[in-house]
Amino acid sequence: MKFADLTDLFERISTTTKRLEIRALLAEHLKGVSEQDMAPMVYLLQGQLRPEYEGVELGVADSLARKALASASGASEEKVRAEASRSGDLGTTAEALLRSQGKAGGGAPLALLDVYRELKEIAQASGEGSQETKIDRLSKLLLKASPTEAKYLVRFTLGKLRLGVKEMTVLDALAVVYGGEEPRKARTVIEGAFNVTSDLGEVASTLARTGDLEALARLRAKVGKPIRPMLGEREASLKDVLERMEGRAALEYKYDGLRLQAHIPSAEGAPVRLFSRRLEDVSAQFPEIVRELPGALTVRPAIVEGECVPVDPTTGELRPFQEISRRRGRKYDLERFEEEVPVRFFVFDVLLAGEEQVLSLPYPERRERLERIVKLGDRVQLATREVVDQVPEAERFFQQALTDGCEGVMAKSLAEGSSYRAGARGFWWIKYKREYTHELADTLDAVVVGAFWGRGKRAGRYGALLVSVYDAQEETFPTLCKVGTGFDDATLESLTKQLRDKQVESRPEEVLSTLTPDVWIRPTLVLELRGAELTLSPIHRAALGRVREGYGLALHFPRFTGRVREDKGAEQASTTEEVVRLYQTQVRRAAEETSSEGTELKDTPPQRPAEPPPKGPF
Ligand code: ATP
Repeated sequence: MKFADLTDLFERISTTTKRLEIRALLAEHLKGVSEQDMAPMVYLLQGQLRPEYEGVELGVADSLARKALASASGASEEKVRAEASRSGDLGTTAEALLRSQGKAGGGAPLALLDVYRELKEIAQASGEGSQETKIDRLSKLLLKASPTEAKYLVRFTLGKLRLGVKEMTVLDALAVVYGGEEPRKARTVIEGAFNVTSDLGEVASTLARTGDLEALARLRAKVGKPIRPMLGEREASLKDVLERMEGRAALEYKYDGLRLQAHIPSAEGAPVRLFSRRLEDVSAQFPEIVRELPGALTVRPAIVEGECVPVDPTTGELRPFQEISRRRGRKYDLERFEEEVPVRFFVFDVLLAGEEQVLSLPYPERRERLERIVKLGDRVQLATREVVDQVPEAERFFQQALTDGCEGVMAKSLAEGSSYRAGARGFWWIKYKREYTHELADTLDAVVVGAFWGRGKRAGRYGALLVSVYDAQEETFPTLCKVGTGFDDATLESLTKQLRDKQVESRPEEVLSTLTPDVWIRPTLVLELRGAELTLSPIHRAALGRVREGYGLALHFPRFTGRVREDKGAEQASTTEEVVRLYQTQVRRAAEETSSEGTELKDTPPQRPAEPPPKGPF
């Protein structure tokens, strides 16, 4: 396959923002892709070289790409710089320069695989002389490219492929190509395989090789490849939790720390890897867990999941979550932090034990397996749990969890179908946290999409932020509220600095907003917010039309809790689905409170009665 086939596709995609059209264009394109081209194609489509969890960074510095372009086009570096600052995109400048100077694209067409290999070499060059190597390789590649190809090559190498295709759209397109008469069913199977491997390239090339959806069912969880985490729903009371779980559930402590998925290989001395909730490799940050895990398990290879929590080394008591953030992202002084912020790993699930794919077993069997394979030690412990079938028992366990420094409980279904649902949020797990009277039952994680400059003593920094939730269906970020409370001056200062290079001139396409902030910000940073309630809003776009035509939902009296969700990417922020569900819970609660007071609804709330969420895990 030619590299130009990919860039032609990008050109066509750039003429539309409609997801269905993009999917159709993509499906048409993927039909013709061979097995060997498929994985590179799928990575490049997303502006990547490897699955995201491998952390292979394509990006080279702007200055380096400018040098390569100057050398390939024959223009001076000053000219390249001036043109790029005019166009705002070095890719566009590359295309224009090469076109006007008639320099490029003379020879044989570039093959997709060759370009892919070359981009990998450029990305991986390191050490002494690597900058020159990168410039040299990139400029040679640009010399062979057509102007349009050059545009994308430059964007790839800068890590700024503006129109990378979202993974959900690639999954949709694969379902169209390989789903025959039943693309919906195929979509579920394909997404299932992706959730277990986290590698779209592997999923797509398996399909290209076999043409058979069944082959995906044979893709296995493997040590070294993170599994997308199973997620829980919420309920407003322990009574509701037990009802939902058909009267009986396991309650586990809900530890307030950092979720880690630990991969322990079978070979002695092979490295243990720890992945965060967003599948980043964070092994280097917790050397003591890495050291202790192999000895703490009786079976290998293994994949276990748990929460890493700061503890007081003398009393063993749990410490506030915030302390752990001092260790995140750290490259130096790790030993000092190992001592200053000691952590303990509370394991709550097992997904692979020896050769057995435990994730398809029901939860009670997984837990039993977990208890059998974990040898308790100083750093590795089992999550405390109890099986309950009465509300008072559940209440007592919940209170005990709070007393022991946890933020609540996770209820886990004991039903036959309670397998580990990678990447899915459902009622097989229900989180229940401490209730805050007169407040929304839970926090929301919102993405910053814009900012308003502060006044008075906040002048020169952001005074308030515009934040959104994620609409996973539409792949958009509709706004939820404007928030200016809960930030101290130092935090605002540091957020202003941190977000400076995420500022963009106009509203990012995926952000839906009727408000225009002073600056728009590319959605990346996730903040935890608390608020009084969710209300219908003619201004905010979250869940637009879901409760009432023409209205979105907004968070009323929002405030920042002080927690930046570094473990979440924009697409792991709270979703419109969650907001709708929280809204429904709130309406139901208000109705229950009113009826228990024996009065009529004082003010008819401005909404249609909400449908209660479906019963029974699904
Ligand atoms: P979610 O993970 O549902 O998107 P979140 O990341 O905001 O939400 P919470 O609302 O705090 O997290 O609840 C789920 C998280 O609770 C899990 O992702 C995990 O990190 C943590 N957790 C703590 N203890 C347990 C446990 N025993 N079982 C499962 N998860 C637990």
